[in-house]
Amino acid sequence: MGEEAQSHAPLVTVLAERTLPADRSEGACKVELPAALTQPRATDAHFMQGHAPHGRRFVKGEPATMTAIALDFDAPDHAMTPAWAAETQAKIEALLAAHRGGFGYMTKNGARVVWAIEPVAISDAESACNWSRRYLSFVAYLRRCWQLEADALHDHTRLFRLPFVVRDGVAQRPLTIGDPRAIGALDWAPTAEDEAAAAEAWPRIFDGTSTPPLCGTDQPPASRPQRIEGSVTATRGVLYDLLARRGDIRSPHDLGDGSEAFHVRCPRADRHSPGTGDDALLIASHGGGPGWITCRHNGCAGLEPADWLALLGVTQRVGKVARWFINAAPRGVGIRLALDLLPEDRGAPMPYVRVSSGTPAWSALWRAADVEAPSDLDHDGDLGDALRELRGRRLLIESDNGRTRRILTAPARERVAA
Ligand SMILES: [Zn+2]
Repeated sequence: MGEEAQSHAPLVTVLAERTLPADRSEGACKVELPAALTQPRATDAHFMQGHAPHGRRFVKGEPATMTAIALDFDAPDHAMTPAWAAETQAKIEALLAAHRGGFGYMTKNGARVVWAIEPVAISDAESACNWSRRYLSFVAYLRRCWQLEADALHDHTRLFRLPFVVRDGVAQRPLTIGDPRAIGALDWAPTAEDEAAAAEAWPRIFDGTSTPPLCGTDQPPASRPQRIEGSVTATRGVLYDLLARRGDIRSPHDLGDGSEAFHVRCPRADRHSPGTGDDALLIASHGGGPGWITCRHNGCAGLEPADWLALLGVTQRVGKVARWFINAAPRGVGIRLALDLLPEDRGAPMPYVRVSSGTPAWSALWRAADVEAPSDLDHDGDLGDALRELRGRRLLIESDNGRTRRILTAPARERVAA
């Protein structure tokens, strides 16, 4: 690859996936910003607004050089409408005409704008905090002068999705604004007015008292059902777990094709014809699916996984994140979030969904919400940003006889024609 010292284009860090950990060098590389913004990627690639000497994902406390700035604009309720898209596109076009060198692209639920910047060295907590202050002042400026509501993604370690990626298996070809090959440095300096507005909205970033973590540890009101204990990612599929809990898994069965299968007691055994036995076969899923039950008995033959799940008391409901509570984790390490969801079916209240940091459920939550998982548990930093992004997001909660089993991406809402 090229000699970095001879490169004049700003270098950013590109990660093949946003879940790539900081200590992994596979899938992480420094790329010139114009190339990062134009080359189609075979993965759901994200970029960071700068790079570290080691070329990998950088984290807080590591030296980094910031070479770019990215701003996200979310559609209200994360539901893109043609009117919002057209209005935002027009605003971004005007913004980029006034601040040349920028490049914008529409995303699934919003829009993003990127500029190069004069390099900024992050060497300590103070320089990292100065980055946040400058970023938030720019957010205030965009609101004041352009009526653009940017997300306050002020942590310098943030990841942003690139435009030409494969998302959920689909190659993205977004509408773009400006020329990424001609990307240039943002010409902007904060005014006292914008700094004051940002300082008012983010006092702890500006007065230097931002401290980790666990601000606002409100307790959930006791009147709400609280029986849910986190959620798990079923490693062999939810059907396996359900049958295992009932004691209905009997013995492994070799299908001869490498898949994992078990002799089980059929969940509908009491409806089999008398004297025909109760045996069925379960094929486990390792890809996140529920698994598969095959039963040759009368009435069972045509049943699909969804039928078996319903039969076994598994329900799925979509809820919108209304608010959250932060508690110390039971193990004393990290935090536990309790999410209050407004059910989309307007039925009975949904029990709180409790998720502890550092668990598979924690990863599942952010993945399902399509919000970047916070890189720390600082309520004034990444965690606070992530929670604000989480508000209003829709989640599909799979419950098993009242207990949260899985947190999944909610299917797109059906639109009713006006
Ligand atoms: Zn059966």
